[in-house]
Amino acid sequence: MKPTTSKYVLLEEPNCYYQVREERVFIHALRDIIAGEELTFNYGYDLDGFEEHPCRCGSARCVGYIAAEEDWPRLRELIEERRSSREGIEEKITPKPF
Ligand SMILES: [Zn+2]
Repeated sequence: MKPTTSKYVLLEEPNCYYQVREERVFIHALRDIIAGEELTFNYGYDLDGFEEHPCRCGSARCVGYIAAEEDWPRLRELIEERRSSREGIEEKITPKPF
């Protein structure tokens, strides 16, 4: 099988979803798919260690990380909390001009 670098593309606007039944994964189309078009779906990772799964889909709706859609509101809060605390740290270590 040819390796691909695009397995995490367009997760927020997927053309498929998956179901696990009896230890098998089934991929279902959400719309008509053109021959040769890549199959995409949201992996739905939980929020533990979300920073290990950045999303590079480029969608305007993207939350920046691969996570289950129902977790996006909480994920946005976590991102904002981390951004705020990081800015606080940078403020403390940035030398003040005399
Ligand atoms: Zn994305």
